[in-house]
Amino acid sequence: MLALALVATLLSADGWASHGTGTTGGAGGTVHTVATRDQLVTALQAPGPKIIKVTGSIDGNLPCSAYVTGGYSLDAYLTAYDPATWGRVDPAGPQEDARAASAARQTARIKLKVGSNTTIVGVGKTARLKGVNLHVDKADNVIIRNITFEDAHDCFPQWDPLDGATGNWNSLYDNISVTGSTHVWADHNTFTDGGNPDSAQPVYFGRPWQVHDGQLDITNGSDYVTASWNRFTGHDKTMLIGSTNNPSQDLGKLRVTVHHNHFENTLQRLPRVRFGQVHVYNNYYEVYDPAAFVYALGVGVQSQIYSENNLYRLGRGIDPAKILYNWGGTALTARGDLLRVGGKVTPFDPIAAYNAVNDPDFGTDAGWTPTLHSGVDPAADVHEKVSRHAGAGEIG
Ligand code: CA
Ligand code: CA
Repeated sequence: MLALALVATLLSADGWASHGTGTTGGAGGTVHTVATRDQLVTALQAPGPKIIKVTGSIDGNLPCSAYVTGGYSLDAYLTAYDPATWGRVDPAGPQEDARAASAARQTARIKLKVGSNTTIVGVGKTARLKGVNLHVDKADNVIIRNITFEDAHDCFPQWDPLDGATGNWNSLYDNISVTGSTHVWADHNTFTDGGNPDSAQPVYFGRPWQVHDGQLDITNGSDYVTASWNRFTGHDKTMLIGSTNNPSQDLGKLRVTVHHNHFENTLQRLPRVRFGQVHVYNNYYEVYDPAAFVYALGVGVQSQIYSENNLYRLGRGIDPAKILYNWGGTALTARGDLLRVGGKVTPFDPIAAYNAVNDPDFGTDAGWTPTLHSGVDPAADVHEKVSRHAGAGEIG
């Protein structure tokens, strides 16, 4: 039933990553066991195919002060670009230059590139990559399993005064970024911000100080990705599939399967989709705070979400009409979902709930039918299966 061997390859018909040549990662290649950030960097630079076994907890980050250069300070930055005095134009000048230069030093330290034919797998229950942004870039055939990813915080968020109605702080680092890559399987990982959650950040210029980006973002023409049995916890912008409405590199791509994941107190992008045919099934959504929750499925430009047999467990006060958000999409398929509020479980149609209070309505046909799966569980089984078996430490 479950593929529980520690170093496994993706089964046939397990989501879009099994399409065509499938996903075998570093199977048959050199094994590198790593316990430090520098060993991890060396292993990532070795030729593939390769299997990188992560043991224990690796902290890729340094104290923010170690990256500072050019005279950057947050106080000086806030003084320089306060919209009340600077206006609503992009930051420019010595403090922005110093911020960018400091950020470049952090990027060089924590953004670690993953190449083709690579498996990165945690050993046992304690493998952890903290303060690391794994960047699967222009690669094919990559597996990432059984690792807890923690707090890839950005020491130098940038103020964008034109993002949204009143500006936003934006941050650079996902826990895992998949860009321009194919055949990627992320399985049985846990994502957490640990002791540095989004909910604990201060507010500057009236907007939350955003030190995190996505937990697992799939963008820039990536294709054939399966995200299965992961646990996403306590995070704002969780999973972005497609980062731009410009179709030049994404049209016909961004095909992703998202199944048996646990989304626990995550606030938006679960996932947010542009362009891709994305199969979202048997996920367990557990969200309790009506003041913080934004939406689950972001229906973006030319997206084709096929959602089935998910369980939405919502706190009282969360409107089920907010499960979907319209980012410029027109239709999706949704079938077989369940809604649990308090102890009460009822069949749930997120499209009907959305359409009842929003216009224009979403259409109810995504225009395709997923075939790359080995059986979709009844939504009634999702709670027990996913809460027990999702996340790191459950395999091997
Ligand atoms: Ca991102
Ligand atoms: Ca309507």
